[in-house]
Amino acid sequence: MNELQNSLVELIRRTSAEIPDDVQKVLLSALEREQQGTIAQSALQIIQENIKMARAKSQPICQDTGSVLFYVDAPQGFDALGFEESAREAVRLATKKGYLRQNSVDSLTGFNDGTNVGPGSPTVHIHQHRSPDTEVRLVLKGGGCENVGAQYSLPIEKMKANRDLDGCRKVILDAVWQAQGKGCGPGIIGVCIGGDRATGYEFSKRQLLRLIDDSNPVPELAQLEKDILENANALGIGPMGFGGKTTLLGAKICAANRVPASFFVSVSYMCWAFRRQGVALDALGKINRWLY
Ligand code: SF4
Repeated sequence: MNELQNSLVELIRRTSAEIPDDVQKVLLSALEREQQGTIAQSALQIIQENIKMARAKSQPICQDTGSVLFYVDAPQGFDALGFEESAREAVRLATKKGYLRQNSVDSLTGFNDGTNVGPGSPTVHIHQHRSPDTEVRLVLKGGGCENVGAQYSLPIEKMKANRDLDGCRKVILDAVWQAQGKGCGPGIIGVCIGGDRATGYEFSKRQLLRLIDDSNPVPELAQLEKDILENANALGIGPMGFGGKTTLLGAKICAANRVPASFFVSVSYMCWAFRRQGVALDALGKINRWLY
Protein backbone atom coordinates (compact mmCIF):
# COMPACT_ATOMS: atom_id res chain seq x y z
CA MET A 1 0.00 0.00 0.00
CA ASN A 2 1.44 3.41 -0.92
CA GLU A 3 1.46 6.47 1.34
CA LEU A 4 -1.58 8.03 -0.35
CA GLN A 5 -3.66 4.85 -0.02
CA ASN A 6 -2.65 4.63 3.64
CA SER A 7 -3.81 8.19 4.24
CA LEU A 8 -7.10 7.66 2.40
CA VAL A 9 -7.87 4.50 4.40
CA GLU A 10 -7.29 6.49 7.60
CA LEU A 11 -9.46 9.31 6.27
CA ILE A 12 -12.25 6.79 5.58
CA ARG A 13 -11.86 5.16 9.01
CA ARG A 14 -12.04 8.44 10.86
CA THR A 15 -14.90 9.81 8.75
CA SER A 16 -16.94 6.66 9.30
CA ALA A 17 -16.32 6.40 13.05
CA GLU A 18 -16.07 10.00 14.29
CA ILE A 19 -18.45 12.92 14.05
CA PRO A 20 -16.48 16.10 13.29
CA ASP A 21 -16.08 18.54 16.19
CA ASP A 22 -18.25 21.29 14.68
CA VAL A 23 -21.18 18.88 14.29
CA GLN A 24 -20.67 17.38 17.75
CA LYS A 25 -20.80 20.90 19.19
CA VAL A 26 -24.22 21.67 17.68
CA LEU A 27 -25.56 18.24 18.64
CA LEU A 28 -24.57 18.91 22.27
CA SER A 29 -26.23 22.34 22.22
CA ALA A 30 -29.36 20.69 20.81
CA LEU A 31 -29.32 18.20 23.68
CA GLU A 32 -29.14 21.06 26.20
CA ARG A 33 -31.98 22.89 24.46
CA GLU A 34 -34.48 20.02 24.50
CA GLN A 35 -36.67 19.66 27.56
CA GLN A 36 -35.82 17.17 30.30
CA GLY A 37 -37.73 13.94 30.02
CA THR A 38 -39.00 14.44 26.45
CA ILE A 39 -38.62 11.88 23.64
CA ALA A 40 -36.58 14.51 21.78
CA GLN A 41 -34.08 14.65 24.64
CA SER A 42 -33.86 10.89 24.88
CA ALA A 43 -33.39 10.56 21.08
CA LEU A 44 -30.47 13.01 21.26
CA GLN A 45 -29.02 11.15 24.26
CA ILE A 46 -29.12 7.88 22.29
CA ILE A 47 -27.41 9.66 19.38
CA GLN A 48 -24.68 10.88 21.78
CA GLU A 49 -24.16 7.36 23.18
CA ASN A 50 -23.92 6.03 19.65
CA ILE A 51 -21.32 8.67 18.75
CA LYS A 52 -19.23 7.85 21.84
CA MET A 53 -19.30 4.10 21.24
CA ALA A 54 -18.43 4.41 17.55
CA ARG A 55 -15.44 6.62 18.34
CA ALA A 56 -14.21 4.38 21.18
CA LYS A 57 -14.48 1.18 19.12
CA SER A 58 -13.49 2.77 15.80
CA GLN A 59 -16.65 1.38 14.25
CA PRO A 60 -19.10 2.99 11.82
CA ILE A 61 -21.43 5.52 13.46
CA CYS A 62 -24.29 4.14 11.39
CA GLN A 63 -24.69 0.79 9.66
CA ASP A 64 -25.38 2.61 6.39
CA THR A 65 -21.91 3.92 5.59
CA GLY A 66 -23.38 5.66 2.57
CA SER A 67 -22.15 6.83 -0.79
CA VAL A 68 -18.42 7.59 -0.74
CA LEU A 69 -17.82 11.11 -2.05
CA PHE A 70 -14.30 12.54 -2.34
CA TYR A 71 -13.72 16.26 -2.96
CA VAL A 72 -10.14 17.11 -3.87
CA ASP A 73 -8.54 20.55 -4.23
CA ALA A 74 -5.16 20.09 -5.85
CA PRO A 75 -2.39 22.13 -7.47
CA GLN A 76 -1.49 22.11 -11.16
CA GLY A 77 0.26 18.92 -12.22
CA PHE A 78 -1.67 16.78 -9.72
CA ASP A 79 -1.94 13.15 -10.85
CA ALA A 80 -5.74 12.85 -11.08
CA LEU A 81 -5.72 9.33 -12.53
CA GLY A 82 -3.31 8.14 -9.85
CA PHE A 83 -5.52 9.65 -7.16
CA GLU A 84 -8.64 7.95 -8.50
CA GLU A 85 -6.84 4.58 -8.57
CA SER A 86 -5.64 5.08 -4.98
CA ALA A 87 -9.12 6.16 -3.87
CA ARG A 88 -10.65 2.98 -5.32
CA GLU A 89 -7.98 0.84 -3.66
CA ALA A 90 -8.46 2.64 -0.34
CA VAL A 91 -12.22 2.03 -0.52
CA ARG A 92 -11.61 -1.69 -1.18
CA LEU A 93 -9.25 -1.90 1.81
CA ALA A 94 -11.47 0.13 4.12
CA THR A 95 -14.37 -2.17 3.22
CA LYS A 96 -12.28 -5.26 4.03
CA LYS A 97 -11.36 -3.74 7.38
CA GLY A 98 -15.04 -3.04 8.18
CA TYR A 99 -14.75 0.76 8.15
CA LEU A 100 -17.33 0.73 5.35
CA ARG A 101 -20.27 -1.64 5.04
CA GLN A 102 -20.47 -3.63 1.78
CA ASN A 103 -22.85 -1.03 0.56
CA SER A 104 -22.65 -0.64 -3.21
CA VAL A 105 -24.72 -2.74 -5.62
CA ASP A 106 -25.04 -3.05 -9.38
CA SER A 107 -28.12 -0.97 -10.21
CA LEU A 108 -29.39 -3.36 -12.90
CA THR A 109 -28.86 -6.73 -11.23
CA GLY A 110 -28.67 -5.80 -7.54
CA PHE A 111 -25.41 -7.78 -7.31
CA ASN A 112 -23.08 -6.74 -4.50
CA ASP A 113 -19.46 -7.73 -5.12
CA GLY A 114 -18.55 -6.65 -1.59
CA THR A 115 -15.92 -4.09 -2.58
CA ASN A 116 -17.87 -0.79 -2.72
CA VAL A 117 -16.08 -0.13 -6.00
CA GLY A 118 -17.92 0.14 -9.32
CA PRO A 119 -19.22 2.72 -11.79
CA GLY A 120 -19.72 5.96 -9.82
CA SER A 121 -18.43 4.44 -6.59
CA PRO A 122 -16.49 6.03 -5.08
CA THR A 123 -17.21 9.43 -6.63
CA VAL A 124 -14.17 11.69 -6.97
CA HIS A 125 -14.50 15.41 -7.69
CA ILE A 126 -11.13 17.01 -8.43
CA HIS A 127 -10.68 20.77 -8.69
CA GLN A 128 -7.41 22.47 -9.48
CA HIS A 129 -6.39 25.51 -7.46
CA ARG A 130 -3.36 27.84 -7.43
CA SER A 131 -2.23 26.88 -3.93
CA PRO A 132 0.54 24.25 -3.69
CA ASP A 133 -1.53 22.28 -1.12
CA THR A 134 -3.57 19.17 -1.74
CA GLU A 135 -6.70 18.89 0.36
CA VAL A 136 -8.99 15.88 0.31
CA ARG A 137 -12.43 16.01 1.87
CA LEU A 138 -14.67 13.01 2.26
CA VAL A 139 -18.41 12.78 2.80
CA LEU A 140 -20.14 9.48 3.54
CA LYS A 141 -23.76 10.15 2.64
CA GLY A 142 -26.37 7.73 3.91
CA GLY A 143 -29.23 6.57 1.71
CA GLY A 144 -32.07 7.61 4.02
CA CYS A 145 -31.06 11.26 3.98
CA GLU A 146 -30.16 11.17 0.29
CA ASN A 147 -33.70 9.95 -0.45
CA VAL A 148 -35.22 13.09 1.05
CA GLY A 149 -33.14 15.53 -1.00
CA ALA A 150 -35.38 17.54 -3.32
CA GLN A 151 -35.20 19.78 -6.33
CA TYR A 152 -37.80 22.47 -7.06
CA SER A 153 -38.39 24.31 -10.30
CA LEU A 154 -39.76 27.75 -9.54
CA PRO A 155 -42.31 29.21 -9.85
CA ILE A 156 -44.64 26.73 -8.11
CA GLU A 157 -48.10 28.21 -8.10
CA LYS A 158 -49.73 25.96 -5.49
CA MET A 159 -46.98 26.85 -2.99
CA LYS A 160 -47.05 30.54 -3.97
CA ALA A 161 -43.30 30.14 -4.49
CA ASN A 162 -42.10 32.74 -6.96
CA ARG A 163 -38.68 33.24 -8.48
CA ASP A 164 -37.32 35.24 -5.55
CA LEU A 165 -35.75 34.67 -2.14
CA ASP A 166 -39.14 34.25 -0.49
CA GLY A 167 -39.98 31.53 -3.05
CA CYS A 168 -36.66 29.84 -2.22
CA ARG A 169 -37.47 30.06 1.48
CA LYS A 170 -40.86 28.39 0.95
CA VAL A 171 -39.50 25.43 -1.01
CA ILE A 172 -36.52 24.89 1.33
CA LEU A 173 -38.87 24.73 4.31
CA ASP A 174 -41.12 22.40 2.31
CA ALA A 175 -38.15 20.05 1.78
CA VAL A 176 -37.53 20.04 5.55
CA TRP A 177 -41.22 19.39 6.20
CA GLN A 178 -41.36 16.52 3.69
CA ALA A 179 -38.24 14.95 5.23
CA GLN A 180 -39.79 14.64 8.68
CA GLY A 181 -39.50 11.19 10.19
CA LYS A 182 -37.51 9.97 7.18
CA GLY A 183 -34.07 11.51 6.92
CA CYS A 184 -32.83 10.70 10.47
CA GLY A 185 -32.99 14.26 11.76
CA PRO A 186 -31.87 16.56 13.15
CA GLY A 187 -30.31 17.26 9.79
CA ILE A 188 -28.11 19.73 8.04
CA ILE A 189 -29.18 21.00 4.65
CA GLY A 190 -27.04 22.15 1.76
CA VAL A 191 -28.87 24.25 -0.80
CA CYS A 192 -28.07 25.67 -4.21
CA ILE A 193 -30.22 28.39 -5.71
CA GLY A 194 -29.88 28.30 -9.50
CA GLY A 195 -27.59 26.27 -11.74
CA ASP A 196 -28.92 23.49 -13.97
CA ARG A 197 -30.38 20.32 -12.48
CA ALA A 198 -27.05 18.50 -12.19
CA THR A 199 -24.87 21.39 -10.97
CA GLY A 200 -27.66 22.48 -8.61
CA TYR A 201 -27.44 19.20 -6.75
CA GLU A 202 -23.66 19.09 -6.97
CA PHE A 203 -23.27 22.59 -5.53
CA SER A 204 -25.85 21.88 -2.83
CA LYS A 205 -23.80 18.88 -1.66
CA ARG A 206 -20.61 20.94 -1.63
CA GLN A 207 -22.27 23.23 0.91
CA LEU A 208 -22.03 20.32 3.36
CA LEU A 209 -18.24 20.81 3.34
CA ARG A 210 -18.64 24.15 5.12
CA LEU A 211 -18.19 24.41 8.90
CA ILE A 212 -21.54 24.46 10.69
CA ASP A 213 -20.77 27.73 12.48
CA ASP A 214 -19.24 29.65 9.57
CA SER A 215 -21.06 32.62 8.11
CA ASN A 216 -22.08 33.07 4.53
CA PRO A 217 -20.16 35.96 2.88
CA VAL A 218 -23.26 36.95 0.87
CA PRO A 219 -25.51 38.95 3.27
CA GLU A 220 -28.81 37.87 1.62
CA LEU A 221 -27.80 34.21 1.85
CA ALA A 222 -26.53 34.61 5.43
CA GLN A 223 -29.94 36.04 6.33
CA LEU A 224 -31.74 33.24 4.49
CA GLU A 225 -29.67 30.59 6.31
CA LYS A 226 -30.59 32.14 9.66
CA ASP A 227 -34.23 32.42 8.70
CA ILE A 228 -34.42 28.78 7.52
CA LEU A 229 -32.74 27.49 10.68
CA GLU A 230 -35.08 29.44 12.97
CA ASN A 231 -38.23 28.60 11.07
CA ALA A 232 -37.36 24.93 10.58
CA ASN A 233 -36.73 24.58 14.32
CA ALA A 234 -40.07 26.21 15.02
CA LEU A 235 -41.88 23.52 13.01
CA GLY A 236 -41.82 21.13 15.99
CA ILE A 237 -40.63 18.11 13.95
CA GLY A 238 -37.71 17.44 16.29
CA PRO A 239 -35.08 14.68 16.41
CA MET A 240 -36.14 11.64 14.36
CA GLY A 241 -39.53 13.33 13.89
CA PHE A 242 -40.48 12.74 17.57
CA GLY A 243 -41.30 16.41 18.16
CA GLY A 244 -39.07 19.00 19.82
CA LYS A 245 -37.04 22.11 19.21
CA THR A 246 -34.29 20.67 17.03
CA THR A 247 -35.26 19.86 13.46
CA LEU A 248 -32.20 21.29 11.74
CA LEU A 249 -28.65 21.74 13.02
CA GLY A 250 -27.57 23.90 10.13
CA ALA A 251 -28.56 25.38 6.76
CA LYS A 252 -25.87 26.21 4.19
CA ILE A 253 -26.91 27.97 1.02
CA CYS A 254 -25.11 29.05 -2.16
CA ALA A 255 -26.21 30.53 -5.45
CA ALA A 256 -25.10 29.59 -8.97
CA ASN A 257 -25.89 31.37 -12.21
CA ARG A 258 -28.85 30.04 -14.17
CA VAL A 259 -30.37 30.61 -17.58
CA PRO A 260 -33.32 33.03 -17.56
CA ALA A 261 -35.74 30.21 -18.44
CA SER A 262 -34.94 28.11 -15.34
CA PHE A 263 -34.93 28.67 -11.60
CA PHE A 264 -34.02 25.53 -9.67
CA VAL A 265 -33.62 25.23 -5.93
CA SER A 266 -31.76 22.03 -5.03
CA VAL A 267 -31.74 20.74 -1.47
CA SER A 268 -29.38 18.05 -0.17
CA TYR A 269 -30.25 16.72 3.25
CA MET A 270 -27.68 15.21 5.61
CA CYS A 271 -28.73 13.19 8.65
CA TRP A 272 -27.40 13.65 12.21
CA ALA A 273 -24.73 11.04 11.32
CA PHE A 274 -22.94 13.80 9.46
CA ARG A 275 -19.81 12.02 8.35
CA ARG A 276 -17.47 14.55 6.80
CA GLN A 277 -13.75 14.84 7.32
CA GLY A 278 -10.77 16.18 5.44
CA VAL A 279 -7.00 16.09 5.30
CA ALA A 280 -4.19 18.19 3.89
CA LEU A 281 -1.58 15.95 2.27
CA ASP A 282 2.13 16.43 1.64
CA ALA A 283 3.74 15.74 -1.75
CA LEU A 284 4.05 12.01 -0.93
CA GLY A 285 0.41 11.71 0.10
CA LYS A 286 1.07 11.65 3.85
CA ILE A 287 -1.42 13.40 6.17
CA ASN A 288 -0.11 16.81 7.28
CA ARG A 289 -3.17 17.92 9.21
CA TRP A 290 -6.90 17.34 9.65
CA LEU A 291 -9.28 19.93 8.26
CA TYR A 292 -12.27 19.64 10.62
S1 SF4 B 1 -30.08 8.48 7.10
FE1 SF4 B 1 -28.12 8.62 8.19
S2 SF4 B 1 -28.49 7.98 10.31
FE2 SF4 B 1 -30.24 7.35 9.03
S3 SF4 B 1 -29.80 5.23 8.47
FE3 SF4 B 1 -29.05 6.54 6.82
S4 SF4 B 1 -26.91 7.00 7.30
FE4 SF4 B 1 -27.86 6.18 9.15
